[in-house]
Amino acid sequence: MLSYRHGYHAGNHADVLKHAVYAFCLAYLTKKPKPLLLLDTNAGGGLYDLESAEARKTGEADAGVRRIVGRPDPPDLIAPYLALLESLNPDGLLSTYPGSPAIALAGARAEDRVALYELHGTENSVLEQFVGARRNTSIVKGDGLEGLLALTPPRERRMLALIDPSYEIKTEYETVVQAVAKAWSKFPTGTYVLWRPVIERARVDAMAERLRRSGVKSVYDIELCMAPDAAGRGMTGSGLYVVNPPYTLPEAIDRAMRWLADALDAGGPTYAGWLVPPDRP
Ligand code: SAM
Repeated sequence: MLSYRHGYHAGNHADVLKHAVYAFCLAYLTKKPKPLLLLDTNAGGGLYDLESAEARKTGEADAGVRRIVGRPDPPDLIAPYLALLESLNPDGLLSTYPGSPAIALAGARAEDRVALYELHGTENSVLEQFVGARRNTSIVKGDGLEGLLALTPPRERRMLALIDPSYEIKTEYETVVQAVAKAWSKFPTGTYVLWRPVIERARVDAMAERLRRSGVKSVYDIELCMAPDAAGRGMTGSGLYVVNPPYTLPEAIDRAMRWLADALDAGGPTYAGWLVPPDRP
């Protein structure tokens, strides 16, 4: 039984990192005039109200996205994310927050295809309402990892996949890596953005080791933690494995990480570098 609802956490520090990098990848990949598949294995509700009872209950956005909007001198990496936040909140009050489907729909061109998987019945209905009828866009109430395997290789021969589970089921730390490795073996040129929380360091280390041994190449690792590792303290940070990142990501990330760490007052480990380097030609 799934109980995770992203509305409680929308706009938190993990969303800021994930959504900034996802929007950056999308902006990069849509520069090329060729169709793209945007695949979201764990879509959530799509768009969030930061003034809702759920969001107010945790106040996580106050320590997340609300600390970065309006801050001077933003780095290039977060420009696409900030532009979307500004366009959704023209009054500057930051009450509307884009989940990954809203980012995908804002960045997708007419020729792109968007596939959104959401297993939770309530979230799926919210997502359907948000998306409405839209060309080249499908919402599936089904397992996103099965969807990832079913849709690779994509007919477009270009893909940006976001894999963003809630890790409610502990075996997900293994199954996501297996699914990404399998999808990659079917389609090694896709860009895969795989999110992970930092709750217990041992789980992250084991996940990284699994990915390293999986055979997947060109894996860029990014992590931003709010507090030092501490078991039993909940999520102290989060990270992303980006398979086949835009070549501009490694050069843009350093300044972005410093700026984000300052803005979010991050006091934990921060890292960006290759987990598995690309094969040299
Ligand atoms: N990606 C969203 C975003 O960035 O706005 C947030 C997604 S939230 C972290 C994870 C979502 O995955 C939850 O809404 C949950 O119901 C859904 N979920 C959990 N297991 C799933 C599965 N096997 N397939 C598809 N969705 C799943």
